[in-house]
Amino acid sequence: MKQENIRNFSIVAHIDHGKSTLSDQIMKMTDTFSFRGNEEQVLDDMKVEQDHGVTVRSKTVRNIYRAKDGQEYELNLIDTPGHVDFNYEVEKSVSASDGVILLVDATKGVQAQTVANYRIAKNNNLVIIPVINKVDNQSAHVDMCEQQLYELDESFLEHDIIHISAKTGLNVDKVLEVIVNRIPSPKGDETKPIKAMIFDSHYDSYQGVVAYVKVIDGTIKANDKLMSMNQRVKFATPEIGIFSPQLLPLKELKSGDIGYVITGIKDPADVRVGDTITGQARQTKQAVAGYQPAHSVVFAGIYPKDADFDDLKVAMEKLKLNDSSIELVEHVSNSLGPGYRCGFLGMFHLQIVRERLINEFGMSVIITSPNVNYRYTTKNDSTLKTINNPSDLPDFSLLKTIEEPFNKVVIETPSETVNDVLTLLSKSRGVLLDMDNTDQLVKMTYSVPLAEIAFNFFNQLKSITHGFATYDSQFMEYVESDIVKITIDVNYAPVDELTFIVHRLNAEKLAQEIVHKLKYVIPRKLYPMPVQGYIEGRVVARVDVPPLRKNAAVSGDKKSVSKKQALLRRQSLNKRKSASEAIQLPQSVFDAILNIE
Ligand code: GDP
Ligand code: MG
Repeated sequence: MKQENIRNFSIVAHIDHGKSTLSDQIMKMTDTFSFRGNEEQVLDDMKVEQDHGVTVRSKTVRNIYRAKDGQEYELNLIDTPGHVDFNYEVEKSVSASDGVILLVDATKGVQAQTVANYRIAKNNNLVIIPVINKVDNQSAHVDMCEQQLYELDESFLEHDIIHISAKTGLNVDKVLEVIVNRIPSPKGDETKPIKAMIFDSHYDSYQGVVAYVKVIDGTIKANDKLMSMNQRVKFATPEIGIFSPQLLPLKELKSGDIGYVITGIKDPADVRVGDTITGQARQTKQAVAGYQPAHSVVFAGIYPKDADFDDLKVAMEKLKLNDSSIELVEHVSNSLGPGYRCGFLGMFHLQIVRERLINEFGMSVIITSPNVNYRYTTKNDSTLKTINNPSDLPDFSLLKTIEEPFNKVVIETPSETVNDVLTLLSKSRGVLLDMDNTDQLVKMTYSVPLAEIAFNFFNQLKSITHGFATYDSQFMEYVESDIVKITIDVNYAPVDELTFIVHRLNAEKLAQEIVHKLKYVIPRKLYPMPVQGYIEGRVVARVDVPPLRKNAAVSGDKKSVSKKQALLRRQSLNKRKSASEAIQLPQSVFDAILNIE
């Protein structure tokens, strides 16, 4: 295909606005995929994607389209996820595109992720084509959507906004024509040395890393001797090809093409997303500017349950190959043994990882209470240190300052729910920065500690606004804050994985709630076990986990119940080599803590 006839684009939208449906419709109309029966959503093929009805990974597919001008065009479509946790995937797709379709659900209008994705496209200087979807629906408000789009970007007034139904296919042909007419073709030079940007990858156990590339200059042929420029790793590619949407081998990929390059490289660190592939003999002068790696937002421990660490290690490393946004550090916990400290893009990402471990590896795991990261300085050392594991925070007597991350949060909600939202945000230590009315909707901009919004906030917001509020959140800054550490002793031994960093305001109440929850979820022993919560060296909460079968200890003995139990406990303390032998922490312990408000 001539480069002039190639169009590389992505579809971006708020979650559920119809991206995957439109992708499927485009494939249908260009005969890219022969749909047998009624198979829906060809691109959402991961089990977690089908379970949640959302796209988790970006997908790429080449469509061949015969336009009204009689010519054939190659339309490379990159489907993207819409959940706020996966903005990083959107950035990757957009970096390989020359234009985006900004899709808006006519029954919902412009929502938080519509705006966030619009900004990503704008920052990449892409042509943005607004399209209104679901016009077949009874409750479509097309005029309202147009108005909101013009408010977002006045330049949308220069062209008619297309109204489509991705479901029935109404006017999708017009979208294809606009893609051809308004999105520029790539402008590379196929005679120059190879310059191909890696915008995504997956791992294949036989073929190693399969890099998804946009060829900017040059021509890649099968068996070419190639190298990654930043990592400087050399390889010969046994196979190259395109996404149709399955991998389809081809003889060559030319400038402007989007396709895959099998590298044979077994260590994913050698071919990172954002790196540039070039030839070993003829090298391009300059690598493409890579984009920022994903930032972890929440951190938690993952430990094997009913399995060895080695099994977990195999599973986690494989998962990491296909999801480079998980951060993994091996860690030995004093109560759960060897496992990992992991970083995730958000709670939804954490949940997806847990489900993939079960679905794809048959691994059930214990995931500890998630937390955000903090920075601190000590009295002896004024350099800021970042920690993501609460038990790494030094004792309060040594600390000088602690800082916590704050996010800028934008919430749009119907005016009748504003009071409830204000209450929720003040409970969450939010600071109102701006408030703006448009018609029935109120837009509020807040600065909120990440720790208050990272876990259950979105669900609470949805519930108090009956699902109508939309929400976007971005890291803003670290702010010094009155933060303390809660530690929990079980049977007089501190348990690392039950350490929490919280604001002083709620600390005592929280410590008491945690300790009371633990009373019912910590597995019982023959003797009663005290559970104590400490803040800054003071006991602030205590309960006793009742013993297993009270009478077991006293049959036919003169000693009193409590003396016998005390004896059992002393014996257990003496015998104990490490805390892990003394208490086991089942998943229910961490789930109980997560459910505390
Ligand atoms: P995504 O999250 O943006 O990928 O959205 P999906 O493509 O998964 O669509 C979300 C829901 O909207 C699905 O239930 C679709 O069947 C439905 N949907 C998508 N497009 C249309 C449309 O044009 N009309 C109607 N009525 N429903 C649609
Ligand atoms: Mg989707």
